[in-house]
Amino acid sequence: MSRILITGGAGFIGSHLCERLLNEGQEVIALDNYFTGSKDNIRHLLSHPYFEMIRHDITKELFLEVDEIYNLACPASPVHYQYNPIKTIKTSVMGAINVLGLAKRVKAKVLQASTSEIYGDPEVHPQVEEYWGNVNPIGIRSCYDEGKRCAETLFSDYHRQNNVRIKIIRIFNTYGPRMQPNDGRVVSNFIIQALQNKDITLYGDGSQTRSFQYVDDLVDAMVKFMATPDPEIGPVNIGNPNEFTIRQLAELVVEMTGAKSKIIYKPLPENDPLKRKPDISKIKGIIDWEPKIELKEGLKETIDYFSSVLRK
Ligand code: NAD
Ligand code: UDP
Repeated sequence: MSRILITGGAGFIGSHLCERLLNEGQEVIALDNYFTGSKDNIRHLLSHPYFEMIRHDITKELFLEVDEIYNLACPASPVHYQYNPIKTIKTSVMGAINVLGLAKRVKAKVLQASTSEIYGDPEVHPQVEEYWGNVNPIGIRSCYDEGKRCAETLFSDYHRQNNVRIKIIRIFNTYGPRMQPNDGRVVSNFIIQALQNKDITLYGDGSQTRSFQYVDDLVDAMVKFMATPDPEIGPVNIGNPNEFTIRQLAELVVEMTGAKSKIIYKPLPENDPLKRKPDISKIKGIIDWEPKIELKEGLKETIDYFSSVLRK
C-alpha cells in the first residue's frame, strides 16, 4: 500500500482520483482549500479508514510523509481562474515549488496536472507534445496558461537539478459528474441551461472546436502513467481525440435532454482558442490505454448527474 497525496482532492477530477486510488487499496490524503472544490465531492469517502482530508492552501509549504503526489490544486475553468488571476498564478507556481520541495525531501514521485492550455491558440493541429505553443503572455487567460507553463519548467528543473521523480501530463477538456454547476465551462453550462429550458449560450459562431474526454478515461490514464518506470517523465497529452465544434455540442445536448431551449449567440471571449485536439500517440505507446467513453455516453452520465443536483 502506498500513501498518496492529492492536492485539489476535493475538486472535480481530484475526487474521482481519490475514489479510484482508495478502490485500489491505497492510502489517500486529499488536500484542498475548497476554492472551487467541495466537501460534497468527497463526503462519501470521509468514513473510509484510509482516507484523510486536509484543509490547506498549496501556496504555503507543507510537511507530510508520502510516496506519491498528484498535484491538481488550481482552479481550472476560465470563470474561476480569472476571478483572482494573481492567486491563480501563485497557486500554479508556488504550489509547484511546494510539492516539488516535499517530493525532494521524502523522495516521492510527483505528477503535475498540466493542461492543453499550454499550447495556447495552436498553430499545429492536432497538438503534439513537441509543439511549444502559441500563448499570449499578457492576456486574460495568461494567469492560467503561463502559470501552468512555469509549473512545467519547475518540474523539469527539479528533475534535472535535484533528480526529483516527476511525471507531467497535459490534460485536454475533461467533463463528467461533479463538475461545478457554476464554473462556466461549456459542458456544464449547456447541460444546466438545457435542463432548465433556458437559452443555450454559444460564444462566437460556435465553429471553434474542442475534444471532450470523460473523467473516468482521464483518471485511468493518470494512474497508469504514474505507475510507469522513472525515466517516463512526459510530458504526455491525455485526452479524447474526437473533435467537435461547440455548435455540435450544443445541438447534441439539446437533443439528448429534449430541451425546448434555443441557441443564442454571445461574443467569443478574448484569446479563446479556435481549435483543440490531442495527438495521443505518445501516451498510447507508453501505457495500455485509450479513451473508451464516447461523447454521447459520457454526456448521458453527466446529464443524469446534473439532473439530480438540480432536483436537490
Ligand atoms: P476543480 O476546480 O474542480 O479542482 C481544482 C481543486 O483545487 C479544487 O478543489 C480547488 O478548491 C483546489 N484549489 C484551488 N486552489 C487551491 C489552492 N491554492 N490550495 C489548495 N487547493 C486549491 O478543477 P478540475 O477540473 O478538477 O481540475 C483539476 C486539475 O486538472 C487542475 O490543476 C486543472 O488545471 C487540471 N486540468 C483540468 C482540465 C479539465 O478539463 N477539467 C483540463 C486541463 C487541466
Ligand atoms: N463556450 C460557449 N458557451 C458557454 C461556455 C463556453 O460557447 O456557455 C465555449 C468557449 O468560448 C470555448 C469552448 O466553449 O470556445 C470551451 O470552453 P470551456 O470554458 O469549457 O473550456 P476552454 O475554453 O478552457 O477549453
